[in-house]
Amino acid sequence: MKRTFIILLFLFALPFSAHAEKLKVVASFSILGDMTRQVAGGNADIKTLVGPNGDAHVYEPTPADAVALQNADLVIINGLGFEGWLGRLVSASGYKGPIVTATTGIPPLAFSGEGLTQDPHAWQSVANAKIYVANIRDALIKADRMHASDYKANADRYLAQLDALDAWVKSEIAKIPVGKRKVITSHDAFHYFARDYGIECIAPLGINTDSDVSAQRIAGLIDQIRSQSVKAVFMENITDARLAQQLVTDGGAYFGGTLYSDALSESSGPAATYIAMFRHNVTQLVSGMMHNAL
Ligand SMILES: [Zn+2]
Repeated sequence: MKRTFIILLFLFALPFSAHAEKLKVVASFSILGDMTRQVAGGNADIKTLVGPNGDAHVYEPTPADAVALQNADLVIINGLGFEGWLGRLVSASGYKGPIVTATTGIPPLAFSGEGLTQDPHAWQSVANAKIYVANIRDALIKADRMHASDYKANADRYLAQLDALDAWVKSEIAKIPVGKRKVITSHDAFHYFARDYGIECIAPLGINTDSDVSAQRIAGLIDQIRSQSVKAVFMENITDARLAQQLVTDGGAYFGGTLYSDALSESSGPAATYIAMFRHNVTQLVSGMMHNAL
């Protein structure tokens, strides 16, 4: 009896000790966290700093974030000026390990103003997401060579899913007449999307989410909506809904629903993964653009 107990104890203890040696990765925001999870599979513990529906533009790190960094083997960030708070967090935590920028190798879209020189929202292009995945894969392999073949196989499978997603997005957008491919969103998160898929996104908030919109700018948008050049208006999961509501109430815009721009939804929501987010956004955009006049 006693011997059986000891054997059982050993069998139970074994998986836990293996867990303790898992690579610990911190990803700066939820979209990057999901991409990292897809590539890591079960081989790493991934912690996300800015969680679902969180706004990384105005994020304030918590003491728990500093602890996460202290325990991390690898930190993965977006870069392009997206995580303005990261430098302070890294120095406060004393983290000395590698910090990998997932957008390395992506030609950034220029943007000037609001303290930025480049547009950080590169993940809103599936072609760019494939570069994120390659960078994440290489970073995981470098940090944990024991599981190199797993990381490579997971990345290959995920990259194939992203190719299928990209083809699907193109076929969905192709359903909309070229003259109708315009939408109003809250903030300027969709320039890479607009470039890749040939739509025009008008955004009163600019590239960050913390700027104010002038009454003049809103009046200009209402003129555009009334003149029928664009009808479809969306809110975002990370921004205030009031602006979209005003354009619907005062301008007679068509409310197209919620787009997930800079963060995923909660796991029970419609955008729990990057691929689900992209599919949700495209479905919403396509049905909204149908309401634009030609
Ligand atoms: Zn943004």
